[in-house]
Amino acid sequence: MSTLTLREPKYQELKNRLSQIRDLEAAASVLNWDQTTYMPTGGAYARGRQIATLKEFAHEKFTDPAIGQLLEDLRPYENSLSYDSTEASLIRITRRDYDRAVRVPSEFMAKFCQHQAVSYEAWVKAKSVKDFSSVQPYLERTLDLSRELASFFPYQHIADPLIDFADEGMTVSILRPLFSQLRQKLLPIVEAITSAPLIEDSCLYQHYPKQHQLNFGRTVIERIGYDFQRGRQDETPHPFTSSFSIGDVRITTRVYEENFTEALFSTVHEVGHALYEQGIALELEGTPLAEGTSSGIHESQSRLWENMVGRSRGFWECFYPQLQGIFLKQLSRTSISEFYRAINRVAKSCIRTDADEVTYNLHVMIRFDLELAMLEGELAVSDLPDAWNERYKTDLGIVPADDSEGVMQDVHWYGEMIGGMFQGYTLGNLIAPQIYEAAVKFDPEITVAIERGNFTLLHKWLKQNIYQYGRKYTANELIRRVTGADLSIDPFINYIQDKYSEIYKIKLATYATKN
Ligand code: ZN
Repeated sequence: MSTLTLREPKYQELKNRLSQIRDLEAAASVLNWDQTTYMPTGGAYARGRQIATLKEFAHEKFTDPAIGQLLEDLRPYENSLSYDSTEASLIRITRRDYDRAVRVPSEFMAKFCQHQAVSYEAWVKAKSVKDFSSVQPYLERTLDLSRELASFFPYQHIADPLIDFADEGMTVSILRPLFSQLRQKLLPIVEAITSAPLIEDSCLYQHYPKQHQLNFGRTVIERIGYDFQRGRQDETPHPFTSSFSIGDVRITTRVYEENFTEALFSTVHEVGHALYEQGIALELEGTPLAEGTSSGIHESQSRLWENMVGRSRGFWECFYPQLQGIFLKQLSRTSISEFYRAINRVAKSCIRTDADEVTYNLHVMIRFDLELAMLEGELAVSDLPDAWNERYKTDLGIVPADDSEGVMQDVHWYGEMIGGMFQGYTLGNLIAPQIYEAAVKFDPEITVAIERGNFTLLHKWLKQNIYQYGRKYTANELIRRVTGADLSIDPFINYIQDKYSEIYKIKLATYATKN
């Protein structure tokens, strides 16, 4: 504990105020978790109001000029203390949050939130009857409001402030060239893989009783390091992770009895998010530092566990005998090699959330480019479905059967905003192999240990190098500290080439360099 904490009452006052705000936010999250898991449907209307009330209180307390004054008074310490210290980080990060929060008028936020709620309802209906035209006016309004939100901030590109909310420090000028490089490399790789004979994966689509799936999933995530003393697992239609404190980080799961992969891999994905939140240093509890630093880093942790570990050969060397033992009837005639190939099958498809790790980023980049085009005024909402289908044809060689499978498949634009919604997914996919490479370079035993069912080496390394810091460092700072380099597409491309060259028996390196 530095001398500042002991001597400076203003720092204590700031911490006390921030801790109360965190409590209000955590209470709102508990209400939200309850709404999605156990609340009877009759509670929906009142619950919406209750959550809004708590959030409004939290916002009012945070934008109180007294907080601004405290930050001003503490500014000298921010520079005199070490950048890495908890105290300097707390002042620095809180100032960024505060400056952002006071720029947006609360009447605007109330108006936008109200619109998001009705737009979401309109989307649910429009999606079920496959009618984009009925949700179009709502989306047009969302575009206007998203542009207005951006206008409260200084920017180079109108999407920059919206991207910054989720992935601080990332801008269109960084992401556009990065993504376009990635797309150029990926398109020929996807083409080469999908021209090869299709992998047989019918073993995954048999009847897998729900309780057995849940039991197996629990064994896996406990072994990985998810702490059930500080978390729990429940069922919901759309899996998510929510954190109420470092000591209470919950995940949800959905199970399809006719599809083995859905529950397991989405559970491991959510556990990746949860390990991050459970691994934050306890001294950050009750402060704005006690959460993941950006959507890209968060997603990198879930994808690292889901894909790089969960879909690796080594992981199944450890777990496949056990899985076969539980599902003897389904898997006794499937070898580990057949199973490993089946869970890594690559196919062009219309739905982002079902996509394999090779094609996934193409789905994301389509959305990212369309978002930018709409915000720039280059693409009208009325032309969005055609633009969407055109890009799917170019990048994935398929056209969605209807707009429900196409432009209306994701909730993001309809329930939140246009801009900043998708880049985090691809950033996560890029950051995960860059971090994993650094971990294995530090300790090559990590991969061998995984084959033996020992995940502690990797978990400990991630905790020490990523999790414990919470929001102390931005994504760019963290990547540089951990890997010694800036964010790059190379580790991802190398990972995909190595893994899928072996699975598909093609020399993918020759395809990726073609462009
Ligand atoms: Zn995720």
